[in-house]
Order: sequence, then C-alpha cells, then structure tokens
Amino acid sequence: MEAAVIGSGPNGLSAALVLARAGVRVRVFEAEPTIGGGTRSAELTLPGFVHDVCSAVHPMAVASPFLRALPLAEHGLELIHPPAPLAHPLDDGEAVVPDRSIDATVASLGGDGEAYRRVIGRTVEDWRLLDSAFLGPILRVPRHPLALGRFGLRGLRPSASLASSVFEGEQARALFAGAAAHSVLPLEQLGTASFGIVFLALAHACGWPVARGGSQQIAQALASYLRALGGEIETGAPVTALEELPRARVVICDVGPGQLLSLAGPRLSSRYRGALARFRYGPGVFKLDYALDGPVPWNAPDCARAATVHVGGTLAEIAASERAPWQGRHSERPFVLVAQPSLFDATRAPEGKHTLWAYCHVPNGSSTDMTERIESQIERFATGFRDLVLARSVTTSSDFERGNANIVGGDINGGAATLRQLVARPALRRLPYSTPDPDLFLCSASTPPGGGVHGMCGHLAARAALRRLGVGRSSSSARSPCVARPRSARGGGGRGSSARSGGVAEVERELRRRAPPSRRRRGRAPRRGAAGEPTRARRAHRPRGRR
Ligand SMILES: Cc1cc2nc3c(=O)[nH]c(=O)nc-3n(C[C@H](O)[C@H](O)[C@H](O)COP(=O)(O)OP(=O)(O)OC[C@H]3O[C@@H](n4cnc5c(N)ncnc54)[C@H](O)[C@@H]3O)c2cc1C
Repeated sequence: MEAAVIGSGPNGLSAALVLARAGVRVRVFEAEPTIGGGTRSAELTLPGFVHDVCSAVHPMAVASPFLRALPLAEHGLELIHPPAPLAHPLDDGEAVVPDRSIDATVASLGGDGEAYRRVIGRTVEDWRLLDSAFLGPILRVPRHPLALGRFGLRGLRPSASLASSVFEGEQARALFAGAAAHSVLPLEQLGTASFGIVFLALAHACGWPVARGGSQQIAQALASYLRALGGEIETGAPVTALEELPRARVVICDVGPGQLLSLAGPRLSSRYRGALARFRYGPGVFKLDYALDGPVPWNAPDCARAATVHVGGTLAEIAASERAPWQGRHSERPFVLVAQPSLFDATRAPEGKHTLWAYCHVPNGSSTDMTERIESQIERFATGFRDLVLARSVTTSSDFERGNANIVGGDINGGAATLRQLVARPALRRLPYSTPDPDLFLCSASTPPGGGVHGMCGHLAARAALRRLGVGRSSSSARSPCVARPRSARGGGGRGSSARSGGVAEVERELRRRAPPSRRRRGRAPRRGAAGEPTRARRAHRPRGRR
C-alpha cells in the first residue's frame, strides 16, 4: 500500500480517488460501520423512510470543479434539481422563492430587484472566474484579482448590515439573511456577507439539488468509482494512532485538528501542535427527521417548489437566532433549515408519505431538546404540520459527535468559519493540507475551503500527497487546479459534465506521458509503478499493521 486515508467522508473518499486515479495503491480506513461521514442516509424513523443523517442539499457538489469532473453518474449518482433552489416563507403567507434565472428573481423582488442583480447577479456573472477562489485556500495569489476584489468589497461586510443597507424590503433582506446563516456565525460578524452572496449565487449558477436515493448515494458513487480504480475501503476500522496503519508512504487524514493531534502529536512541531490546539469550533446543531403522512402544508404553496426551505422569518429574527448559540443561549424562535427531498424523489418514502429534515443551531455540545421550538417554527409557516407527523428522530449535538468524531460538539463545518480560520485552517501554512511531517496530510473540512460536500479539501490534499510521491507536478504551489466551469450561469454544471478538473487532467496527462507506449495506446492510467517511481523512497508509516 502506498497511501492510507483515515476517514471516508466526502473529503477522504475524494482524496483516495485522486490518488487511485494517479495509479497509487490506496486504502481507506473508516471508523464507522458505513462509509460516507456527512453523506450518510438511513431509515431513522420508520421502515421505507430514507433520511439524510447529515447533508441533504448539494449546491457545492455541483459547484465543485473536482466532483463535477468525476463520472459519478456512471456509478449511480443522480442529482435532482427541484424547480426552485430554495424558498423562504414569511408571516404574510407569501414566500420569497428565487428562480434559477437571475432575471426572473430580479423581477419577483420588486423594488429590490436591481439591488439583487447588483449584489448577487454580479457574482453569478463572475462565477466562472471565482469558483476556484471560493473552493480553495484563501492564501494564494488570486487569478482574477479584479473579480475577487469586487466580490470582497461586499463579501467582507457583516451580512446583517449589507442586507439592511442594500435592500429596502423585508423579502430580500430575509432571503439574504437565510443564505448568510449558512455561515453559522453571528450575522453582525465581518465576512458573513460573503456566505449570503455565495449561497445565493450558487442558487443561480449551480442550483441546490438533492441526491436521488439520499446523500449516501454520493458516498456510494465515490466509493464505487474508487473500487473500480483498485482502491480499497475498510469499515469498522477506527484509527487511534498512526502506528496502527499498515505500512504506507503517505497518510491523508479526514479528521479534525484535535484528532490529528492525538493521532500524530509527537511527529508534529510544537508550533503546529499549538495551532491545532487553538482551533475553534462553532455552534452545534439540533436535528429532527420526520416521517410524515403527507407533504408539508406550507401556507405559501410556492414553498413546495424547492427542496430547501429557510424557516425563520425576518432578517432581525434570523440575526437574533444566529447570535444566541455564540452567547451560549438557545434561541426561542430558532432559524430552522428544512429539507423536503421526498417531494422530488419518490424513493425516499412510501407512496403518499414524506420525509422532512430540519435543524437549528445551538451552543456547541448542547444536549437541549429543541423539538418544541422547531415544530412551532414550522407550524408557524405550515398550519397543520404537526398533524402529519408519523414519527420523528431526534439528534442532538452530542449525538452527532458520537456518530462521527469529526462533528465536534455538533459543529457541522469542521470548525468555525471565522475570517481568522478561513485564513489559518487549521494553521497558518502556505499549503494548509500539509503538516510538519512531510508524509502526513490533512484533508477534512477543517482545511480550506471548509464545510460542505464538495470534496475539494480531499482533492487538494491528495494533490499535495501526489507531489510528495513524485507523481505529477513537483511544485508545491497551493494554486487551485480548478478549470472546469459550469456550462452557463443558467444551466449550471450538474451531473454528467465531461469537463475535467485541471488538476486531475494534469496528473493524467503526466501519467500518460510517463506510461510505456503500450499503455499509452490503450489510453489507460497505469495502476502502479508506471506512474514513475517516487523520487524519495521514504517509509513513513511502518507499524504493526492491521493486516
Ligand atoms: C446535520 C448536518 C447537515 C449538513 N448539511 C449539509 C448540506 O445540506 N450540504 C452540504 O454540502 N453539507 C452539509 N453538511 C456538512 C457536510 O456533511 C460536511 O462538511 C462534510 O461531510 C465534511 O466532509 P469530510 O470528509 O471532511 O468529513 P466527514 O463527512 O465528517 O467524514 C469524516 C469521516 O471520517 C471518519 N473518521 C473520523 N475519525 C476517524 C478515525 N480516527 N478513524 C477512522 N475513521 C475516522 C468518520 O467516521 C467519518 O466517516 C452537513 C453536516 C451535518 C452534520
């Protein structure tokens, strides 16, 4: 085995795939009985009801230049785009429902339409220039400084003040606040406007789809492709020390900074260890999964056009709700993120029945039951909702951590997305996926670009590992390899794109160049050896071995 990956979340599987595609022999070790980390699905309530345990909605999977370039459709993944990317109901019985088209959205926002075009439409236009900046480390020379500067001028502002200053009506303000709340930061914090802008731009440029059959299908497709390339996955295999691993020349860890410390402490410099120890987690989540006797009876019927519904009312209410967990409080009227995938995917529930996924932010590590408060919020915008509940499953922040060691205290993003931790994630390094041990890499959401199902942390960490193995470019530059682009702002990427990420294409070009002529004729990436022998044959991890 040339490479070991600890953890089979989307980033671990992505890292393993990059290595396997480059002909490196790789094995993934997953602690839990099932693969996928934050992309697992299960029958949490009743037989026949398939629930997404963690992630449910996947704009970042579509946006990811890496995932988009993989043949995941051939491995069973289908992303379903509902007619509208998201919906945001208000107390007047109406809902703000942006369309995939910017023009239609601008028209629907009345007096705030043109401001929306200026703030969000501009980023949608620039999406092709900015996606690799959004989905990679911040600390590097920007490829499109003007576009990034335009974005940064607004993005660096607090989302609450940007929304109040550029929009006049409650509809656009609330819509922006709901998108910005994906930062899991107080909306008064500098930089949170960037989340509002990016998440709304994603709605137009990429869509907010769900995976047919559940998010687990993303992990299954990644794993199926990995196995087809010769990669191996071992489940029920928690790694508690690097010495437990079979011999491997490089190890890539899909774990949080705390775990990295305990796995590899003595191999790391004291400065790096200090940075890992100082890494900060944000609020946790409290989540409910429902089996329902019918679709949610939204007071605003338009809410049924989207898989994602932002339930929380006005900008002021959402801002108050997002402040609370940072102050150690539980909001009385929490902002609730709701997903209703079964409206668009009949495989999720028996005929006529539905699933619902809903969570709110709570203080890190909280075990407070928020069921009543979440249900009151949904009922507020969907009268009669409670009557439909057949069964519910409750997951507190501490439950989440028990099911996945990376969800520390219930933090779903692998660490707070503060400005500081966008730059130093998890430590201030030119290549944040590297560690002081040259054979050890970190690829979890605690590295840039952070949380979400995009696989970019895994992709970029594995590229660094390939360089260590002497495969591909020898440069240690952290420049993003992403050159694949959405087809258009209107049509937006999606599955089946044949575009290749520059990094993968680059490695494959290199492999073809190095491969013996017979291989080259067949056009296959070589398995092992033909990838070129490593320049430095170091045996990094050579321990007693699981096998
Ligand atoms: C409730 C919730 C809702 C979310 N909603 C969305 C959403 O809608 N859209 C979206 O894009 N993102 C969402 N996310 C975030 C997304 O799931 C994560 O950002 C993403 O899964 C991170 O991927 P990862 O590979 O870094 O880590 P993870 O997915 O957390 O995977 C880490 C894996 O490593 C394993 N592991 C950890 N330590 C060890 C060890 N020592 N030995 C062996 N294995 C180990 C874990 O068991 C786990 O399987 C959500 C997350 C949660 C919890």
